[in-house]
Formats: sequence, C-alpha cells, structure tokens
Amino acid sequence: MMTHLESQLRSDLAACFQMVAELGMHEAVANHFSAAVSEDGKKFLINPKWVHFSRIKPEDLLLLDADNPEDAKRPDVDATAWAIHGQIHQRRPDIRAVLHLHPIYTTTIACLDDPRILPIDQTTARYFNRMAYDEQYGGMADSEAEGARLAQLLGHHQRLLMGNHGVMVTAKTIGEAFDDIYTLERACTFLVKAYSTGRPIRVLNDDVAEKTARGWEQITDFSQAHFEEMKKLLLERQGRC
Ligand SMILES: [Zn+2]
Repeated sequence: MMTHLESQLRSDLAACFQMVAELGMHEAVANHFSAAVSEDGKKFLINPKWVHFSRIKPEDLLLLDADNPEDAKRPDVDATAWAIHGQIHQRRPDIRAVLHLHPIYTTTIACLDDPRILPIDQTTARYFNRMAYDEQYGGMADSEAEGARLAQLLGHHQRLLMGNHGVMVTAKTIGEAFDDIYTLERACTFLVKAYSTGRPIRVLNDDVAEKTARGWEQITDFSQAHFEEMKKLLLERQGRC
C-alpha cells in the first residue's frame, strides 16, 4: 500500500521531469532524478531507463532499494542511475532529492579549465564557495565505485559540478533541488555571456559574495514557492485545473 509521502513524492518528481523538459534542460532519454522515500534514504524513486522526461508520469517512477543488488539487474534500471543515485541514497539519508543534468550553460562552465562559478551578480553569488568540483571525468559512470567516488566528492556540499560532464544537485526537498538547478543554469548563463563579451569582468568581493550566498540560504521557502508555482502552471497547461 502506497503511503501518502510516496504518492506526494511521485507527483512532485514527475512534475519536476516535465518542467525540466519544458525548460529545455533535458538530455533526451538520458539523465536521472531521484527522491528518497524511506527514512534511511535507501528506498528511493527514480525514472525508468530511456523514457523521455516529458512523458514521465507519477506511476512510471521505479521504487528501488539501494540495499538490494537484484534491483540493479532490472531491465528498466539504467546502470548509470543505479551507480550514482543508488550510492548517494545508500550513504546520505539526509539527502532527499538528487537531480543530475547536463544543462547547456552549466555544462559549458564545467568544461572550462577553471570551472569555478565566479560571483559576478546576485545569481552567481548563490554558489559562492558552495560547490564541490569533480575534475576526474573518466567516461560513463556505470560502476558502484564511481558512484561512491562522486558521493565522497560531494562531501558537505549540496552540489557537485562534474567537470567535462554536467552537474548534480541535492536538497532536502524536490522543490528546493528544482529551484537550485534552475538558478544554477541561469547563473552559468550570466557567466558564459559575461566571458563571451571578452571585456574585463568585475567579480564581487568575497564579503559581498558570502553575504549574498547566505541570503539565498535563508529563503528556502522562496525555492519551494517557485516549484509550487511551476506545478500550478504545469497543471493549467495540461488542463487539469
Ligand atoms: Zn551525466
């Protein structure tokens, strides 16, 4: 029997896939989002292998158990999804949502020799000293060892900029994770466009950047409100209210 929590998570995660698809931040039938269902985080929902984000419905999401090796062998489970998301949910019960994408501007920054997200405005400053960086891309992540390495790299940070690859964002709720990955893509858009002018860039000083980043951290309800508004818009477009 499905709990109310699982039903809510299914609905939010499916909405998140559809929003990201509409925003053009998807990667066809690749990439994954997951959400922890059980208190220990080990039972989690994730998208089935090779289904387009815009077609994912709440009932399509797979409920997997990170402790059950049989789940890794299911034909509808993508090996990279199991490797990365399974390892994170296995190790971090505090993380309730994990989003992995290759958004264009974020991934562009991840491909630079210096991939740091410099604080050049209010949006980029949200990520000041608040990103973990992976500079060891070694091909498709399909082993549990690679997933464990990424979980380790994440450390106390919420986000991992995956060099030459993409990004992983984690949060306590699906709504916060959605807002974070959306805002990160906007931050990287500002940065790429600033770099592309070829003009000198005025980077915020550390004190202002830190103050701004803390300001963002105090408004997680803003992130949740963003997600709730997006859900309403999605329902309106789908003619369901
Ligand atoms: Zn990827």
